Amino acid sequence: MTDTALHKGLRQNMVNDLRSKGITDEHVLYAMLAVPRHCFIPESYGAKAYEDMALPIHCQQTISQPYTVAKQSSLLEGTPHMKVLEIGTGSGYQAAILKAMQMHVYTIERQRQLYEQSQTVFNQLSLHIAGKFGDGYAGWTEFAPFDRILVTCGAAQIPQALLRQLKINGIMVIPIGKEEQTMTKIIRTSDTEYSITQHGSCRFVPMLNNVNM
Ligand code: SAH
Repeated sequence: MTDTALHKGLRQNMVNDLRSKGITDEHVLYAMLAVPRHCFIPESYGAKAYEDMALPIHCQQTISQPYTVAKQSSLLEGTPHMKVLEIGTGSGYQAAILKAMQMHVYTIERQRQLYEQSQTVFNQLSLHIAGKFGDGYAGWTEFAPFDRILVTCGAAQIPQALLRQLKINGIMVIPIGKEEQTMTKIIRTSDTEYSITQHGSCRFVPMLNNVNM
């Protein structure tokens, strides 16, 4: 997994493109410049690694397009040392972005093959990210509560277990809806209250129940 000057140049262009599309959070842009996206996608799509498009990974899933990763990461308002839970590890790219933003990252994937491949990439890139093979609907009780929760698959409703695992003043970003989703930001304002705002429409693979061995 080499990272060449060419890759770095392509990443700089990608970051310039994200800026022109309205991404302003410097921590996010720094992370997008730092993480080698080409290491997270199948080799056959290598030439498209730094184009602003979603790409197929294994198990009929996708790695989100860079703009979506930047947008979700910006809405999350994460700062260094926060504990963040991601649902839907997929390729591991979004988790690596959160790690590059110096957060403590916990991530769950329901497809065994993707879970295993993401573990391999994290090791190759020496990224200390806690990964779990499991159903994200249950969250990760051992490490709860979390400062931030980021869901990268489309959920029909807000999963109640995840709300309970959010700290007070914590933020969850989650695409809500079936075929098409609304990017939704939830702030837990007290033990029982939440403030919810919507941030445009988006399209994610569905959040499914149970694991796939
Ligand atoms: N964040 C990923 C995006 C992957 S696509 C990346 O950067 O590449 C969304 C992922 O969510 C898929 O891999 C899918 O298998 C996973 N997923 C769907 N439902 C899930 C659930 N209930 N628990 C955990 N992962 C889930």
